[in-house]
Amino acid sequence: MALIVQKFGGSSVANPERVNHVADIICDTYRKGYDVVVVVSAQGDTTDDLIEKAKEINPNASKREMDMLLSAGEQISIALLAMAIEKQGLPVCSLLGWQAGVHTDAIYGNSRIRRVDTERMTAELSKHNILIVAGFQGINKFDDITTLGRGGSDTSAVSLAVALKAEKCQIFTDVDGVYTADPRIVKNAQKLDEINYNEMLELATLGAQVLHNRSVEMAQKYAVELEVLSSITNNKGTIVKENVEVEKTIIRGVAKDDNIARISIVGLQDVPGVAFKLFDRLAQKRVNVDIILQSVGRDGTKDITFTVSRDQQEVAMEVVTAFDPQAKVSCDNNISKVSIVGSGMESHPSVAAKMFEALYAADINIQMINTSEIRISVLIDINDSNKALKAVHDAFIK
Ligand code: ADP
Ligand code: ASP
Ligand code: MG
Repeated sequence: MALIVQKFGGSSVANPERVNHVADIICDTYRKGYDVVVVVSAQGDTTDDLIEKAKEINPNASKREMDMLLSAGEQISIALLAMAIEKQGLPVCSLLGWQAGVHTDAIYGNSRIRRVDTERMTAELSKHNILIVAGFQGINKFDDITTLGRGGSDTSAVSLAVALKAEKCQIFTDVDGVYTADPRIVKNAQKLDEINYNEMLELATLGAQVLHNRSVEMAQKYAVELEVLSSITNNKGTIVKENVEVEKTIIRGVAKDDNIARISIVGLQDVPGVAFKLFDRLAQKRVNVDIILQSVGRDGTKDITFTVSRDQQEVAMEVVTAFDPQAKVSCDNNISKVSIVGSGMESHPSVAAKMFEALYAADINIQMINTSEIRISVLIDINDSNKALKAVHDAFIK
């Protein structure tokens, strides 16, 4: 029998009405004759609330204990959703990550899925049960619970779709698809019928939280088509796949990321190997560095500036402070990164100028610039981030 994986995010199961509505969607799919495996996130703001609760007790709690706490949110939602399905008289079984066979590496708080052992799920499916699996979590080689990083339930869903060779993987959320920009900020953003993996991966990595970036990476690797659609309306969603029809638009979408910090080290020695040693130490601490800028050397010294995500700011600061006692270190997190993404931009040299002109017209100062074949990102003051997103969007997407 064909199998569908359906994933429902936190807002889709935020209250009893929503849970019952999601149960209707699942039961309809099951009644159409599909095997159904559902991945669900914690209800509403549960994960944020749990993080706050932890901070009240111990702001420096270990990542292991944080994972133990945060994974509890999904345990609540799988049980409630399973109960709503029981009420409709259909056979259902809820499973935590480890029961579903989701094995991860040992990195607490941001672990990666290593493999999915499907025996238990296959056994339950052969009994014709609907499966409701806790997203965002797995188990490591020490039999400890791990979590996949914020927004990680999308990745849980794709990994189950791959492991179970699902015919479809549907990501139900609180918007009815992927838009040219976050529709909550840019009111005239347009819904995309389809988008290719590369563009979606860039958008997700650059701040469009509609899909967890690792879910897109995995979907691309295993050629799983994703459908992003609303759990509230019945509108057609967005398909994420390899080949999409080429449209005349050069820019597919814009995104912003307010969750970053910029670290500067002024007065480093201007000798070979400094950049290597610095970034090697950061890499050893698993710090992901994004935009890097190095000044031209003067008077035997040089400066290096780079950005990291805000949750890695502390570790990065520890590394750079210990790196060179002569250098002056500073950190600024009143910044935002605004990016444009599109496979077509490589062959259009005027794209960068057009983006900078839009920012100039909106009186926004650019602090740093970074480009790749399919994206251009600028660093700006955080207070300008929404204005910049709208200005850049409107310059490219009519
Ligand atoms: P879920 O809880 O279902 O996982 P998320 O909050 O993680 O939902 O992701 C959905 C949100 O992503 C939307 O409410 C929207 O504000 C935001 N978003 C950001 N960029 C985009 C975009 N380009 N298209 C659609 N939604 C976007
Ligand atoms: N509940 C987790 C979070 O809030 C995972 C998810 O929603 O995908 O990040
Ligand atoms: Mg999400």
